[in-house]
Amino acid sequence: MADPPIQIDTMRPDSEFRISDLCKLVESRFTIADVQRIYQAYLLAAEAHDGQRRQSGEAYITHPLAVARIVAIDMQMDAQAIMAALLHDVLEDTPVSYNQLANQFGDEVAHLVEGLSKLTNLDVSKAEAQAENFRKMLLAMVSDIRVIVIKLADRLHNMRTLGAVGPAKRQRIARETLDVFAPIAHRLGITSIKDELEELCFEALHPLRHRTLKAAVEDARGNRSELVSRIEIQSRAVLEEMGLKVDVFGREKNLYSLYRKMSSKQMSFSDVYDMFAIRVIVDSVDDCYRALGRLHNLYKPVEKSFKDHVAIPKNNGYQSLHTVMQTNTGVRVEAQIRTRDMDRMAQDGIAAHWKYKTGEHDTPTHAREWLQQVLELQKSVSDTIEFYESAKHDLFHKEIYVFSPKGRIFRLPVNATPVDFAYAVHSDIGNHCDMARVDRNMVSLNTQLQSGQTVQIYTDQSRSPSPMWLDSVVSNRARHAIRHYLRTMNDEKAPLFGHRLIVRALAALGSRFEDVTGENLDRVLKKYNYADRDTLLLNLGIGNHIPSDIAAQLLGENTDPAPAQQQTTPLLVDGAEGSVVSMAHCCLPIPGDNIQGVISAGDGVVVHRAGCRNVIKRSRSRSSDWVPVQWSNNTTAEFTTHLWVAMRNRPGSLARVTDTISRLIANIENISFSNSHDSLTEIQFILTVRDREHLARLIRQIRNLRVVERVHREPLN
Ligand code: MN
Repeated sequence: MADPPIQIDTMRPDSEFRISDLCKLVESRFTIADVQRIYQAYLLAAEAHDGQRRQSGEAYITHPLAVARIVAIDMQMDAQAIMAALLHDVLEDTPVSYNQLANQFGDEVAHLVEGLSKLTNLDVSKAEAQAENFRKMLLAMVSDIRVIVIKLADRLHNMRTLGAVGPAKRQRIARETLDVFAPIAHRLGITSIKDELEELCFEALHPLRHRTLKAAVEDARGNRSELVSRIEIQSRAVLEEMGLKVDVFGREKNLYSLYRKMSSKQMSFSDVYDMFAIRVIVDSVDDCYRALGRLHNLYKPVEKSFKDHVAIPKNNGYQSLHTVMQTNTGVRVEAQIRTRDMDRMAQDGIAAHWKYKTGEHDTPTHAREWLQQVLELQKSVSDTIEFYESAKHDLFHKEIYVFSPKGRIFRLPVNATPVDFAYAVHSDIGNHCDMARVDRNMVSLNTQLQSGQTVQIYTDQSRSPSPMWLDSVVSNRARHAIRHYLRTMNDEKAPLFGHRLIVRALAALGSRFEDVTGENLDRVLKKYNYADRDTLLLNLGIGNHIPSDIAAQLLGENTDPAPAQQQTTPLLVDGAEGSVVSMAHCCLPIPGDNIQGVISAGDGVVVHRAGCRNVIKRSRSRSSDWVPVQWSNNTTAEFTTHLWVAMRNRPGSLARVTDTISRLIANIENISFSNSHDSLTEIQFILTVRDREHLARLIRQIRNLRVVERVHREPLN
């Protein structure tokens, strides 16, 4: 209802809309030369698409013209964008070439159209093609944001005319729109397009639910119009009394947001719809807070409903105060209070720049940050389908707000952990984060944070990122930084480790690295196509080769790897080697256990408990990739282990056990419940301990608890 009055011309249905109408509507904004070029673009498109028809039977050119109309009138974009909208399908579907476009309309227009064209002749699956095109579109968008605005207009028109396509295709397009395009419109703050896309998708995906809800709203609307206008008038009166220059609008929620609220919060139609919504527009930020105070005086605010998106804008730049109040007759009123500028931003988002500023293309900060994230994501994820999935996830991110101990506010994606928080503060804090305190409690590093919590990170310079963190972090920033660290760490440590492995393997054959002849070394390097000795050592370090095999080759033996390994001195491990030595997930060894190392391609040495079934299985097939390992005498790292505790079902049982664990300074990383009988519950704890002695002490103390029936470490299987 806050929309500006609509001119008669723009109401004309698409089927009767002509290029002359478009030119007339933009005449006042552009030079004559630009209007002429828009007309030329239309002529070229019309000629190129001549004879093509849409599913509805209409001439194809009606589609680009309708898209140009949205771009020109609703989005108020510049002349190049309008030309590109008219031409957006010619590269993909007609013989017109890039050069032809560049010659006639300039590089900028040609570039935009290129960005809007799908890759054709991709020799891949449908899912891969979709993902590949998505990546291309996002990259084109990063280099010119107008690409995505035109793409959204294109999608909007296709959704408006979706009735003509078959049911299967209709579902697929609506699904993709809801998964990808509506969230992009949301991230760029283009609310008008986002709302309409969601509405159309809802109708296409759930026609029956849409029809029912629509009828219910129309039914209820009549009954409440009087009430709404009374609330509007009352609110406006008290605000004007204060001398504020104010607009108050009654506001209707769109069907899709009603539906989403009903299904996500399990609310009934009357619960959701009984909420009246008003929007209050004032002149300044100061006035926003004054108006809020006055309204809270008029109606009783509902506890915990106030949100200050003025002080902390949403990540798409949206700013507004939100509150819910109750009138003395018990009616709930939801109010949004914001300035005129904020209101424009809330409606048009990034498009507000073309609409209200002087034709400049500078992208607002929040959108630039987001584009930057897209770019970083694309760099860190090489697999196309994974990129599509991560980007989809990223577009959908809801967010939480947490505080540093000094009261700084951080915005994080929902499900963020203390590690995400640590990286948001500084990558150095992230790289060394050791423990976290949330409000008053110490928590494990994979705990999911909630809005409003205060998070404190304790760092330890000897700590470094663990590959396990990748399982729980959700921010791109943290994921990117951890991957980067692990990669550079491999580069630094792997060659040294590879050196240790090869020295040991050579010793087993009664030789030394210094004794290897240059000739033999060169032959090995050449065989594997390595540039130098260090590359060989690096690949040994990350487990791409079996050391005894390389050792034999370095000594000029072309025979099978020697079975002489038994005599070798074991490799010392301390758990702090980083990703070149890792503890096997199947048996989770801790210092004090008898252990056995296995070389695994790409993962370096994986340490198992001796007797682990996976080691035995492997030893039958190939003995060559074994490495004898032994714990070093001074391990300092923490090791993950599983503990099973069967406890009586009494109130407070679990707390007694967890207290005991934390008193012994073992970190609980996860808990899962398994067999629950009437009187006993069996719980699996995943926790970190220093060594067997630490674990034994823990087991003893837990066993002494009266509520505990049995306790044991996860047995080898
Ligand atoms: Mn199109």
